[in-house]
Amino acid sequence: MTIPSSLVLGPHLYKVDCSHDTALRLRADQRRGDSHADSLLIRLDPDCPHTIAAETLLHELLHMCWNQAAVNDIEGVEPHEEKIVAALSPLILELLRRNPDLADYLLKEEP
Ligand SMILES: [Zn+2]
Repeated sequence: MTIPSSLVLGPHLYKVDCSHDTALRLRADQRRGDSHADSLLIRLDPDCPHTIAAETLLHELLHMCWNQAAVNDIEGVEPHEEKIVAALSPLILELLRRNPDLADYLLKEEP
C-alpha cells in the first residue's frame, strides 16, 4: 500500500515527503521520520519495513495532533511529549490492526 502524499488533520493539509533525498537525510540523522508543524510537513523514510513506516507515520501524526490540540499549554506536559507519543503510537496502531471491525465502526459516519 502506498504512503499517502498528503493528509488532512484538523484545518491543515500536511505534505508527506517520502522522497529518496529525504530518506537519505533521515538516515544520516538516524531517524525514520520527523514532523514540522510550522511548515505542515511530515518526512518519512519509505524504505524501512512497512510496520516501522506505519508506526513512524502514526507517531508523527500524533505529534501534529498534540500540536493542534495545544497539549503543551498544560503546565508541565511539554517535556513528556516524546515519551507519551512514543508510548501511544504502537498501541493505537496495534489496536487498529488487531480489531479491523473497530476501525470500520469508528470510521463509519452514519449510525
Ligand atoms: Zn517523536
